[in-house]
Amino acid sequence: MADDLLRIEDLSVDFHTDGGVVHAVKHANITVRDGGILGLVGESGSGKSVTSLSVLGLLGTTRAEITSGRILFRGADLLRKGQAELRRIRGGHIGLVSQNALSALDPSFTIGAQLIEVIRRHQKVDKANARKLALEALELVALPEAERRMKSYPHELSGGQRQRVVIAIALSCRPELLLADEPTTALDATVQKQILDLLLEINRELGTAILIVTHDFGVVAHLCTDVAVMRRGEVLESGTAEQVLSSPEHPYTQGLMKAVPRLRLSAQDRAVPRAERRLTEFSESALVGGGRERVAL
Ligand code: ADP
Ligand code: MG
Repeated sequence: MADDLLRIEDLSVDFHTDGGVVHAVKHANITVRDGGILGLVGESGSGKSVTSLSVLGLLGTTRAEITSGRILFRGADLLRKGQAELRRIRGGHIGLVSQNALSALDPSFTIGAQLIEVIRRHQKVDKANARKLALEALELVALPEAERRMKSYPHELSGGQRQRVVIAIALSCRPELLLADEPTTALDATVQKQILDLLLEINRELGTAILIVTHDFGVVAHLCTDVAVMRRGEVLESGTAEQVLSSPEHPYTQGLMKAVPRLRLSAQDRAVPRAERRLTEFSESALVGGGRERVAL
C-alpha cells in the first residue's frame, strides 16, 4: 500500500541459547502507516523489543538469527542492507528512543556535545550550524532553558528531562519514523503523560510516524492510530486503534484491556455512539488543541 511506511512481513527471530533455541518472534506482520502511531502491545517477553530492534539491525548478538521475513521501509528491505547503510538509516531516517534514557546518554559528555555529534554524523554541517540544529532539537522537545542545558551533563537533568534529550537526539535528523521502546516506563505518572503528549505533538506537527512499544493499553488509547497485540512471539491481533479498542477480537486482548480500568464501558456508555464515546472516555486532555481525529475516528 502506498501509505505504508514500514511493513514487517512474516518476521521470525530465533535466539540460539545454551538452553536451546528461543523462538522470540514468529511470523509477525506489522505495518506502520505514513504519519501513523502504531502501538505494539503485549506482556513482558512477548517479542516486542526483539521486533523493534530487528528493524534497525540492532539485535546485537551473534546468537540472534532472523529465520524468515522482510522488513520493508518505504518498500526497501532493511534485512538486505549492509551495516554501513543501516547506520545511515538509523538516525537519518529512523530514530530510536530507548527505555532507559540514562544508559542511552554518555555520562561523560554534555547534552550539547552529544547532540552535535549525532547531527554531524548524519548531516554535512559545520560545527556552528550543528550547534544551531542541536539547540532547535532541544527547543522542539520543550526542554526548559535549552541554551543553558546544552552545557549540562546527563546526571544534572531529571529523568523526564533526560528522556526529552533522548527524543531530541532521535529527532535531530528529522527521521520519518521514531521507534520508541517503552519510552516512559522508567518515569513517574505525571512525567509519563508529558512525554506521551510530547510524542503526540511531534507526530502532529512534524508528521513523524511512531512505533511505540508498550505493555499499557492506556498508552494506546491516548496515542495510537493503530495497534498490534503480541503474545509469545506472535501477533495475535492488529488493526486500527478504534477497531481493536472498541471490539477486541482475541480473548487475550480482551483480558489485557480489562486490566485498564478506564477502558471498561458501562451499559450507559454503550448507548453512546462509538466515536463520541471514545472521545469523552479516552482522553479529554488530548482534545485540547484541535481534536483527536486519529483516535476518535
Ligand atoms: P518484550 O520486549 O516483549 O518484553 P523481548 O522482545 O525482549 O520481549 O523478548 C522476547 C523473547 O526473546 C523472550 O523470551 C526473551 O527471553 C528472548 N530474548 C530476547 N533477547 C534475547 C537474547 N539476547 N538472548 C536470548 N533470548 C532473548
Ligand atoms: Mg521489551
